[in-house]
Amino acid sequence: MPSKTNGEEFKEQLEDIIKCPICLDNFNEPRILPCSHTYCLQCIKDLAASNQGQFICPLRDGITISSTNIDSLPLNLAIRDIVDLVTKHADNRSAAPHPPSSVLPSVMTASTDSLRQQQTIKFVKVIDSYVAEHDDELTIQPGDLILLLERRPDQWCKGNLHGKIGLFPGNFVQDI
Ligand SMILES: [Zn+2]
Ligand SMILES: [Zn+2]
Repeated sequence: MPSKTNGEEFKEQLEDIIKCPICLDNFNEPRILPCSHTYCLQCIKDLAASNQGQFICPLRDGITISSTNIDSLPLNLAIRDIVDLVTKHADNRSAAPHPPSSVLPSVMTASTDSLRQQQTIKFVKVIDSYVAEHDDELTIQPGDLILLLERRPDQWCKGNLHGKIGLFPGNFVQDI
């Protein structure tokens, strides 16, 4: 594997920083929570809407925001400026480079934009613990909130837990 230049590594690190853990896209109107985590305004609202108006931080730090307080969450100016900078920089090039599709989970290789338009953001809550038996599985604990990416016919689901994407048994979770 060819070694990366400092510039490339720096750009990748920046792109990680400006990625919303909920929608996995660049932050859009990033709002900062009392727990210091940052999510897109719309992601916070969508999540609250799917949970009786209560936004629970997906990183399970006990932070809950009621939907009436979401609009008053402060904008994360630093993140917004970095998003601006990185996207402007990307616009100056031709097309943004995509990593090879083989390293990405299948849901990400399909046109992510069209997927996002069709799907609303959906989390499921873990009710029983499961320890991963294979590399492509998630270890889950009761109370974890998993961003649901795919329900498979064989009862397994694909989801994103704390930024890690993997499979978990669909009967170990419940809809929220
Ligand atoms: Zn948090
Ligand atoms: Zn988001």
